Amino acid sequence: MAKDNKKLVQAITSQEENFAQWYTDICVKAELVEYSSVKGFIILRPYGQAIWELIQKDMDARFKATGHENVAMPVLIPESLLQKEGELVNGFAPEVAWVTMGGSDKLEERLAVRPTSETMFCDHWSRVLHSYRELPMKYNQWCSVVRWEKTTRPFLRSREFWWQEGHTIHETAAEAEAETQQQLDCYADVCEQDLAIPVVKGRKTDKEKFAGAEATYTIEAMMKDGKALQSGTSHYFGDKFSKAYDVTFTGRDNQLHHPFQTSWGVSTRLVGAIIMTHGDDDGLILPPAVAPIQVVVVPIAAHKPGVSEKAAELAEKISKYARVKLDDSDNAPGWKFSQWEMKGVPLRLEIGPKDLEKNQCVLVRRDTREKIFVSLDELETAIPAQLEALRKDLYERALKNREERTWSATTMDEVKALAKANTGYIKTMWCGDLACEMKMKEEAGLSSRCMPFEQEHLSDVCPCCGKPATKMVYWGIAY
Ligand SMILES: [Zn+2]
Repeated sequence: MAKDNKKLVQAITSQEENFAQWYTDICVKAELVEYSSVKGFIILRPYGQAIWELIQKDMDARFKATGHENVAMPVLIPESLLQKEGELVNGFAPEVAWVTMGGSDKLEERLAVRPTSETMFCDHWSRVLHSYRELPMKYNQWCSVVRWEKTTRPFLRSREFWWQEGHTIHETAAEAEAETQQQLDCYADVCEQDLAIPVVKGRKTDKEKFAGAEATYTIEAMMKDGKALQSGTSHYFGDKFSKAYDVTFTGRDNQLHHPFQTSWGVSTRLVGAIIMTHGDDDGLILPPAVAPIQVVVVPIAAHKPGVSEKAAELAEKISKYARVKLDDSDNAPGWKFSQWEMKGVPLRLEIGPKDLEKNQCVLVRRDTREKIFVSLDELETAIPAQLEALRKDLYERALKNREERTWSATTMDEVKALAKANTGYIKTMWCGDLACEMKMKEEAGLSSRCMPFEQEHLSDVCPCCGKPATKMVYWGIAY
């Protein structure tokens, strides 16, 4: 029978008490994941998978609209192939999982379980590309990759994670650069419009960029606790990989050329971003675009005449324009409320005998708990309007949090004092030296998040070394 609804809520640690524990509690209690029997590998449960599929569907449509095609590459990469590009192999070597046996036979060559697939794509292109007429080749694959991380956390850092990896080659450097920017913009759009997560777009420093890339661009999101989450990256490789893997094409001048390459990816990490940007002490709060259930219909006093029939009829009607679930289980309403709150359903629709008399129902927003009485005749406009209002408010709240947790500093003393007292972004100028970037880490515990596209001039010198500085950097603590 129904359990006391308080019990469900009490089982979660509060954000203030321990944000990290709150996060993992939600992952489990909202039934997004389960830990598997292999350490660091998670099971995406139906509800977690449904959220990821909605993100996937949204992204996939955008990729296809800009001319990308989906492909499927093998999961294993021969060691010799992986080693052709030195920087890439050095960057990933500590995290690669190897297959050494096939059945009972020892393999002649070790095979890497893909940590990323640049090498596979290059190898493929080195055989299938011939002429400039075939360019650009704009590919994407939805798959999982394996990186043997030391410390793991659901969605944020697991040894296997699901993602998409876009890989493209182009005739000119300018076209490849434009592709890199276009995909970064696409990611930013999905985050801001659909996930209601504001992001900072910028370029990574050399220390933080992808192994082997000429430039890595990023979208950085700030979580409720002030820590940063790198939420999507887009890399420009120039012709470095195509040279290493001997990818060539006959150009318009009838000479052989190397194409210019990009890759870009987002992963199930975005689900982690949603949890930590919007969630509260009662559970998840899902932005409507990726909520598997946007409206849950809960009949009140369902045994009274007409109530459950009306609830079913409403759910049927709503299904025409929103993802709806009728909770006609025999759990007590209070239990249902906390269960769906935990799962972050944006809107709850309550209907009871009194509402029936007045031809109305009650809509309850997950984020504000605001109760809105709506005539049943106006539901079809009220529900989409409330979902949109909730999305907008989620975004505004997240933006406000980021603004309140962003500071600027011009001296190292200021940086250290700010970093000691707060968690958030600290903006400073930077001379570009790795030594100063390291010093920020050692003395203030901060890593560079990005050099934002929207630059500001805070001072003339680097706070670390006092040398002239023209770049502004966002520093922070990252997940
Ligand atoms: Zn410096």
